[in-house]
Amino acid sequence: MSCLICAGHAESIDCLAGWEERKCAQCGCYRMSQALILSMMDEGQIFDAEKMRQWLQLQRSVEAIPTIAVHEAILVQ
Ligand SMILES: [Zn+2]
Repeated sequence: MSCLICAGHAESIDCLAGWEERKCAQCGCYRMSQALILSMMDEGQIFDAEKMRQWLQLQRSVEAIPTIAVHEAILVQ
């Protein structure tokens, strides 16, 4: 499995329907909405990995496994 943020090697973890959970050595553990993944593939967009990692780090003080939905995505402009 590859990381949905940086495309590096990541572990896939079973989670709720509609979500993908990954554990990446670079980005850590996170959950991402499948709707977001599909819309990004549709539009050929990619994450700004550096900014997403910073966001994930901040978010971990709020929830152990941050969830990334459409409005949380930080994309390469
Ligand atoms: Zn990653």
